[in-house]
Amino acid sequence: MSIDLKKLQKKIIANRKEKGFSNDVIQDFCRTYEELSEAFSKYDRGQDGVAEEFADVIIFLLGMSYNLGFDLEKELAAKIEKNKKRQYKKVKSIDGKDIFLRIKTPEDP
Ligand SMILES: [Mg+2]
Repeated sequence: MSIDLKKLQKKIIANRKEKGFSNDVIQDFCRTYEELSEAFSKYDRGQDGVAEEFADVIIFLLGMSYNLGFDLEKELAAKIEKNKKRQYKKVKSIDGKDIFLRIKTPEDP
């Protein structure tokens, strides 16, 4: 199944307009944090509904991307490719845990 993010963005924005919700970006950043926090609380307490909170986070991200004129689908695909090419070295922390340090390259400083 493929998802058309632009179509979803239009639905999200239409719902906001219909409900009379604000499109304030600063408020949306705060609400996104809030939704992620709700997801963590539910996860931490072993409650149901974590996936629905994740959906709320994505709804806010899609709405903000629309309002800021970002092509999130393009950004997402590009970032996944960038991450795929990144190289890391594994080192030990002071307390003996593995940590991964990104190796900087001229293409990805
Ligand atoms: Mg929620």
